Amino acid sequence: MAISMNSLLSVKNLKVSIDDKNILNGIDLQINPGETHVIMGQNGSGKSSFSLTLMGHPRYHIQEGQIYFCGQIINTLKPNERAKLGLFLALQNPSEIEGVPLKQLLRQAYNQIYDNTEKQLRLNEFNKLLEQKVQELKVDPNLVERATNVGFSGGEKKKAEILQMAVLQPKLAILDEIDSGLDLDAIKIICAQINQIRQNQKDSAFLVITHNPRLLEHLRPDFVHIMKAGKIIKSGSSELIKDIDIHGFE
Ligand code: ADP
Ligand code: MG
Repeated sequence: MAISMNSLLSVKNLKVSIDDKNILNGIDLQINPGETHVIMGQNGSGKSSFSLTLMGHPRYHIQEGQIYFCGQIINTLKPNERAKLGLFLALQNPSEIEGVPLKQLLRQAYNQIYDNTEKQLRLNEFNKLLEQKVQELKVDPNLVERATNVGFSGGEKKKAEILQMAVLQPKLAILDEIDSGLDLDAIKIICAQINQIRQNQKDSAFLVITHNPRLLEHLRPDFVHIMKAGKIIKSGSSELIKDIDIHGFE
């Protein structure tokens, strides 16, 4: 139990179902501050279900096991309560929000987490923070003026998610298939942005979900896990991928 309390995230024997169908079958995972973990696994192995369960999506029912985050069990907390504790999920398919400029959405997201805390910012202070992040990540400044995700390219949507992560500075960021649908150049840019954020936030941890081995080269994670049929069947360093048939993850 002491270990659970010291890790940032500690998942113990997590079993999850959706509509009476078992999807996660006993996941154990521990993540400490500053670590980057990658989860790989074929389609349908449960990667997105795991990330949505961590974030508290109501559709996923925990049947057994515990999720500890920052020393407390968060099994029954709502998504916004988890966000306040420092959990962030970058969505695989972020939705379009007509009439709400990206910078306004980012401001709202920031306020929801940090209002009435020592990180609360006045509008001009927030705008400074946003400007700084836009510069650091080399994001086109026009992007934050546009209606959120409306008419964004696949790559721009991912950049908006990355920018949100940079602004919110979560303790643990989960990135689900952040590379999906991107070409090699765009993947390189996204990974460079993630690496920039890793440098800026040395105590933050990252859980990157992908089935693209190329991400391992760009991100050089501390740990790699292979998921199959709702379980983590193997964990190791980036070297693990060399032993694995990347098409089958057998
Ligand atoms: P991955 O992200 O690794 O591709 P998923 O977590 O999306 O895997 O899916 C794991 C399993 O859960 C699959 O068998 C999938 O069909 C099922 N599943 C996921 N989401 C739902 C849902 N909303 N309704 C029904 N089944 C689901
Ligand atoms: Mg998925």
